[in-house]
Amino acid sequence: MAADRERKAEPHECSCGARFELAYFDDRRGERAALPDELVDAACPACGKVRSLSLPAGAAKTLVAELSDHDPEEGEGG
Ligand SMILES: [Zn+2]
Repeated sequence: MAADRERKAEPHECSCGARFELAYFDDRRGERAALPDELVDAACPACGKVRSLSLPAGAAKTLVAELSDHDPEEGEGG
């Protein structure tokens, strides 16, 4: 009965050098699982450059881009 969705995150690297993850929920269930992937435009969170990727149908609504850089400066100094 649980309506939990499967969260997926795909690592991407932009031509600007930024690394980020595109996370989304795959909520295809039952008949929806047979739906074809759809092309979605996702913007790089660093430079805004748009790239196209294929996601499960409906996943684009939950798409979140998260920078995955391990910036050593963050949280240090001050
Ligand atoms: Zn970029």
